[in-house]
Amino acid sequence: MRLPERNLLQSADIVSETSYQLLIDGAWAPGSNGTYPIVNPATEQVVAEAPEASVADAQAAAAAARAAQPKWAAVPAEEKARLLQAVADRVRAEADTLLPLIMAETGATVSVGSALQVPMVANRFERYARGARQDIDISIAPQVMEGTPLAPGGLMGAMVVRQPAGVVTCIAPYNFPMTSMAGKVAPALATGNAVVMKPAPQDPLAVIELARICREVGIPDGVVNVVTGSGPEVGAALVESPDVDMVSFTGSTVVGQAIYRAGAATMKRLLFELGGKGACLVFDDADLDAAVTALVSTWGFHSGQICTAPTRAVVQRRVYQEIVDRLAKAAPQLKVGPPTDPATIVGPVITGPHRDRVEAYVKSGVDEGAELVVGGPRPDFDTGYYVAPTLLAECTNQMKAVREEIFGPVIVVVPFDDEDEGIAIANDSDYGLYDYVYSGDTARGFNVAKQLRCGHVGVNTAQRNHEAPFGGFKQSGIGRDGGDFGLHAYTEMQSIIWPS
Ligand code: NAD
Repeated sequence: MRLPERNLLQSADIVSETSYQLLIDGAWAPGSNGTYPIVNPATEQVVAEAPEASVADAQAAAAAARAAQPKWAAVPAEEKARLLQAVADRVRAEADTLLPLIMAETGATVSVGSALQVPMVANRFERYARGARQDIDISIAPQVMEGTPLAPGGLMGAMVVRQPAGVVTCIAPYNFPMTSMAGKVAPALATGNAVVMKPAPQDPLAVIELARICREVGIPDGVVNVVTGSGPEVGAALVESPDVDMVSFTGSTVVGQAIYRAGAATMKRLLFELGGKGACLVFDDADLDAAVTALVSTWGFHSGQICTAPTRAVVQRRVYQEIVDRLAKAAPQLKVGPPTDPATIVGPVITGPHRDRVEAYVKSGVDEGAELVVGGPRPDFDTGYYVAPTLLAECTNQMKAVREEIFGPVIVVVPFDDEDEGIAIANDSDYGLYDYVYSGDTARGFNVAKQLRCGHVGVNTAQRNHEAPFGGFKQSGIGRDGGDFGLHAYTEMQSIIWPS
């Protein structure tokens, strides 16, 4: 993607004059509870005011989606595909203005913003423009069925028709707000659902821009709605709403648990992408350069605020010290600083309280006996929520910093002796989202991968394949999206049976 021509530093720091509003049933509306400020994590300046929706606003958005959904489901696939492609094209065309906004509200660096925060949004809408045209129904071979008192039996044909789930509430986390939302909204729309978007409180502005784009390209009123708020009430109201059939949630496991409980009363369909504590198993025959490059991404990629980060280095003892030394050497080379400086690798974390939380985890590791190899003191800036790349070595799997998700630029290193122990340590986690195996023996890498209780394993790579199903084992989630699996996730299977 082309970078903005204007001065990034200025454009990302200016206070927007735009008045952001809710989109409900195709009309812009102020939040019934006023506004709240969105703060730039680097400058601590207000980026803009976001609408503070009420519970009634959330309910109105859900009702609008409920009313609009059947008509949208009946829109021909070609037209749905055209509209989704139009969103992708507009996001690309507006990338130069979306990028500074998203950098300002998330604290993403130039490279993370320009590589992931904006273009992935367009890619996802484009992928599901194709998805809208895909035939995802399933034909079943006719079966000879015995007669019963219910029916005379015979040769019975059957077909599985994938029906839209209905109204989907899409609740996103703060780290990749627009990208995450696109990964939900695009497949949901492609399969005939209407959506209510509920972005994270910290950075909802670009998602409101996405709603604007959906409206401007001609997606019918009520099919895409957006409500925002500074607390959990708006999301909670949507989870409870009888007008909502499905909750597609990406966020922390603890909030996922609350949604699970609250959604039970109305039997919500649930797609949960939750927390992670990725183990990176490094065997003594591994390409250590490749392993270290992957591990360093925990520091350099959005300051560790990514659920799939290889944040738990589980390293075979023969190469343990070498890995620790190489990581210690790499850390000072990662420039910490303002996201708008193109040389910056490690930008701020999202808020002051989150920085405090990350620092508390580091302190807990040290208190429990870990060695603080790099990191420690808070980087010295006048403003901004910075945490230096931090390495805790000599860790055990019992330590809080090893067991819990930190969501910051912190790597913990745990040694192991043999393969079984390495696998046991990796699996000894409440999470099971994304693990990594580095070994010179790819057959071993594959066999180890199959023994890991997690949704994805990168063998000698941190590269993704976006057509592969994405989701977690254990407390990292329920269900899968990505590629065709995203289409399946937003549908109900309906069996239609007839005599052949
Ligand atoms: P969070 O769980 O605090 O918030 C996520 C969203 O849930 C926000 O929009 C929030 O307003 C909303 N919410 C809060 N309480 C709610 C309630 N009671 N009912 C309905 N909605 C409610 O998460 P976060 O801090 O924004 O993001 C970080 C977390 O997200 C980490 O745990 C990270 O691992 C996870 N995450 C997971 C994935 C994945 O694909 N598995 C991807 C990105 C982030």
